[in-house]
Amino acid sequence: MSEWFNETLHHGYHQGFEVAEILFENKTEHQHLVIFESTSFGRVMALDGIIQTTERDEFIYHEMLAHVPLFAHGQAKDVLIIGGGDGGLLREVLKHQGVERAVQVEIDQAVIDMCVQYLPRHSAGAYDNPRAEIVIGDGIEYVASTERKFDVILSDSTDPIGPGEVLFTSPFYEGIKRCLKPGGVFAAQNGVAFMQPDEVSTTQKRLSPFFADTRFFAAAVPTYIGGIMTFAWASDNNTLWQTPQATLAARYQDSGIKTRYYNPALHAGCFALPQYLIDSLD
Ligand code: SAM
Repeated sequence: MSEWFNETLHHGYHQGFEVAEILFENKTEHQHLVIFESTSFGRVMALDGIIQTTERDEFIYHEMLAHVPLFAHGQAKDVLIIGGGDGGLLREVLKHQGVERAVQVEIDQAVIDMCVQYLPRHSAGAYDNPRAEIVIGDGIEYVASTERKFDVILSDSTDPIGPGEVLFTSPFYEGIKRCLKPGGVFAAQNGVAFMQPDEVSTTQKRLSPFFADTRFFAAAVPTYIGGIMTFAWASDNNTLWQTPQATLAARYQDSGIKTRYYNPALHAGCFALPQYLIDSLD
């Protein structure tokens, strides 16, 4: 009789992963952390019962959250990552050779340590990159207190449950605003719109007072179940989201970055949203 891990995010609807082996399970200072070998998606990590990342489909999410803002910006030198303990986002950000410093503020050292040990292909050495700087702390406190400024800020947080809740609040977005350089851009994981519609409209209401342009882009990540995954976008440069596809293609070509999901045409199209989502926004 095989063992199954059933995600507990949604009421009355869940996904199950057949478990080959539990590799690590513990209550950290902040959350319940489990990493297991699945028979279908490679190794899987969950926090507080919610799927965070799998070896099989993590590339989709990490490529989109990194490359849409970075190729749109085109000359980012200083990048801030909030969360992202598995290291997949840091790996993708550091592929941009123009990025001189990637600061990652992660609340839970145990997530970093266990992911380096049990999900090594996520960070793939990124934590040892001299351009990476890891800060263990709460992202909302960091953006409220740091004097450093960033071209691109990416929030790769858990869902607004537990320690991640503060990363979906107005004070957090106010902190993002104070840490962004002129012409900078903020992007954040913002849940699966069909399953968590309030998350999108709430983010737009809380984010829009601080930025000239707030919108969402999307990607389909199989293990973020229930439809397209949305990413929040905010910038005072209200043309950045419309960077011409030809410009994106030239930057992509020059970067030499090899991707498996992201490409310039998909980037140009990913801000197009389903009508039900548009209707839920002001
Ligand atoms: N890709 C995943 C998703 O979309 O659900 C998120 C991946 S990553 C594992 C989420 C990270 O956010 C975790 O490492 C967690 O410890 C971190 N985190 C949660 N709340 C945080 C906070 N307030 N400040 C900094 N990091 C936080």
